[in-house]
Amino acid sequence: MVKVDWEKFCTLQHIEYLKTTASLARGYINIHCPFCGDTDRSYHLGLHKSGRWTCYRDPIGHKGSDPRRIIMRLIGCNYEQANSYVQDDVVELSDFDEASSEFMLNDNKPIQHGKLEFPTEFLRLRSNRGRARMYLNYLISRGFKTYEVSRVTHRYDLHYCDKGMWRGRIIIPIQINGKLLSWTGRTVYDTEELRYRSLSHKKDAEPQGLVNVRDLLFNYDNVTKEHYHVCVIVEGPLDVMKVDYYGHRYGICAVGTFGTGIREAQLDLLDLIREKCDILVVCGDQNAEANVMDILSATRDINVQNLPLPNNVKDPGELNKKQVITLFGDL
Ligand SMILES: [Zn+2]
Repeated sequence: MVKVDWEKFCTLQHIEYLKTTASLARGYINIHCPFCGDTDRSYHLGLHKSGRWTCYRDPIGHKGSDPRRIIMRLIGCNYEQANSYVQDDVVELSDFDEASSEFMLNDNKPIQHGKLEFPTEFLRLRSNRGRARMYLNYLISRGFKTYEVSRVTHRYDLHYCDKGMWRGRIIIPIQINGKLLSWTGRTVYDTEELRYRSLSHKKDAEPQGLVNVRDLLFNYDNVTKEHYHVCVIVEGPLDVMKVDYYGHRYGICAVGTFGTGIREAQLDLLDLIREKCDILVVCGDQNAEANVMDILSATRDINVQNLPLPNNVKDPGELNKKQVITLFGDL
């Protein structure tokens, strides 16, 4: 096992990097991804002190466990020269790469340009005609106004599906830096027990999600596209849509963790959100104090506040526009 002092390396080579207290505490810094090229100038490639590196935009194609490969690419040198920046050492494996650890196994032949696309049976949820109406009505049943739904489906690029295993679900894409990494489908049927079906990231899944949804944050791209005053961390995609849709014109945005707790890879994404937002708050479901405590303790180095819901509201997905603005607008 090898390790690299990335900060020293980047300073020496005049490579711009981003570090936060939190990222440094977990042992990595962020740089532009040299494989993504000039199309994306955000700092979305993490360099870990263990030598591993992962691009959030293409966590399959642009990642590796050999630091010499990225050094060669960054400064245009050969393997021998790259080796001079690397110290041989035995370090503990960090869980920074939990998100892509499954793909690390066949690191020598990475799946080039891992690409995920919607199957043709996924249709854009736009017009109120035919079968689409049932899916739009579901959003209305969850509290959105009839005149709001088309803007909601537009902001989150919602689709729907009427056949196969995704039938009867609103498809919610999960993107990081413009790249589709996975999706989850919310059933519109009361009788269906599995409320959310998420794309599997396991090898035999067809299609295969590029990343486990639990390692992603829903709505990351909207949140990092501009500056927001408050970013609210909630559990489910509907919680996100309520807070974010009603709040975004008032400096309030939201991201979703797809369940309770928060995983290491999600913390890495939160570090990047921290750079853009003034205040991070966690807003848990009613009676979910344990979950909130988990998130607060995992995020203590990036200063996340707790903001409980009013007593009569069960989860953030139940909030109406006025409540969203009152609750988060005064922070
Ligand atoms: Zn990349």
